[in-house]
Amino acid sequence: MTEPALARIRVGISSCLLGEEVRFDGGHKRSLFITESLARYFEFVPRCPEVAIGLGIPRQAIRLVGDPEAPRAKGNRDDSLDATDALRDYGRAQVRALTDISGYILKRASPSCGMERVKVYSQSGMPAKTGTGIYAREFSQGLPLLPMEEEGRLQDPALRENFIGRVFLYHRWQALERAGVTAGALVAFHTEHKLLIGAHDENEARACGRLLAGLGDADVTAVAKEYINRVMTAVRKPITRRQHARVLQRLAGFLKRSLDSGDRQELAETIENYGRGLVPLIVPLTLLRHHFRRNPDEYIARQLYMSPYPEELMLRNSV
Ligand code: SF4
Repeated sequence: MTEPALARIRVGISSCLLGEEVRFDGGHKRSLFITESLARYFEFVPRCPEVAIGLGIPRQAIRLVGDPEAPRAKGNRDDSLDATDALRDYGRAQVRALTDISGYILKRASPSCGMERVKVYSQSGMPAKTGTGIYAREFSQGLPLLPMEEEGRLQDPALRENFIGRVFLYHRWQALERAGVTAGALVAFHTEHKLLIGAHDENEARACGRLLAGLGDADVTAVAKEYINRVMTAVRKPITRRQHARVLQRLAGFLKRSLDSGDRQELAETIENYGRGLVPLIVPLTLLRHHFRRNPDEYIARQLYMSPYPEELMLRNSV
């Protein structure tokens, strides 16, 4: 499958993470990983909801108060300031406007942008980490399939690899939708992602395969909707080392008739070393790719598990 042009992968982001001085105190929260590594592959679409609704810079800080399921965003010092409705309306407008983004990176703990565990204060002033920022909530409700992650969690190699993998996967899905959803396109998409989805959840990969096998006279649009819902849910959880090891062994199985006993043993040991945490994923994968270059397999050549995003991101060097 041809990778869509990288420059066109647009990702929403909290403006302060790019170094824009938009925080309540006029500061920023620039993330070097985002501005130096990811910026080479993503075109960031910065939004600061608090500035966008006219709160100004600097401004009174806001915080979430009341019911954690439906909190209000009120002024820290003066609670006659209530930004809830404006933030919600702006979020809804951006959900409608940003239909071409393939992911969103949000600022952790913000009453506007925080994705989870944002402090919500009770009437007595006690904080509980249970809420979602008012703006972020609109995205998780309005675009539930959109990969979203907080910048703090991107420090974790497994969560980072998972998020970026989901962005690329979702971007490929958006390209399919733009080209037109047909039964053939759906089956081709699933064929290319079968190992990748199966690495996350084998049962779900099989269920998706059965769903498409029953396409026949079914409503393609409805099946596509259920299919991508299932896929994006399945890939949300990072692939564990054990799950990767299982896929690697399966890949090695495709080579068993092509390799001599020495190469087979070396491959088996490398996969075992990965399973034991002695080497990162890139090591057995590089060896497998080397063998598949010399012994091509049509099915494996189409599998995006082998290369789900640009190698230069080096994400598989640390998982
Ligand atoms: S966290 Fe969101 S609202 Fe707060 S400064 Fe950053 S972009 Fe603006």
